[in-house]
Amino acid sequence: MAERSDFRPNDTDELKDRWQAYIQDRRLNTTAQREAIVEMFLRTRDHVSIDELLTKVRKRQPKVGYATVYRTLKLLVDSGLAVERQFGDGQARYEVVGDHHDHLICVKCGLILEFEDDEIEQLQEKIASRLGGFTVLRHRHELYGLCPKAAGESDGACPNELRKK
Ligand SMILES: [Zn+2]
Ligand SMILES: [Zn+2]
Repeated sequence: MAERSDFRPNDTDELKDRWQAYIQDRRLNTTAQREAIVEMFLRTRDHVSIDELLTKVRKRQPKVGYATVYRTLKLLVDSGLAVERQFGDGQARYEVVGDHHDHLICVKCGLILEFEDDEIEQLQEKIASRLGGFTVLRHRHELYGLCPKAAGESDGACPNELRKK
């Protein structure tokens, strides 16, 4: 099972080229603000909310507003460069498009882990074919629970905090 590995492409330039092509196709204006948002987002390696991205972008473009970030993210989703996720806290999160993976979410601290498991993927296909030959087009696995720290285990640490050390 692939765990916490990087499912997103490392080549930000290629993603930026795709963005440029999308902008030109639709004859959309590019502004310094929008470009800063796109730049910042494409370098993101996790699942950002609009507010989180706004905070990051404001370090470079202090006057960027929420609506501009929101609209730019919608364009990024439309262009196929961003994937929108809902992890049950009523807040949309966005990640850079990449290889298929599923998620494990701590409902207390908001930790999000990514995984990809061949056995699970194949099992889904098996179940679908067993149930009358259903063709699976896409799926989403979201496992909600508690990280060791949130569960109150003695010496329980949140993988997120361990990673930052
Ligand atoms: Zn999967
Ligand atoms: Zn993810």
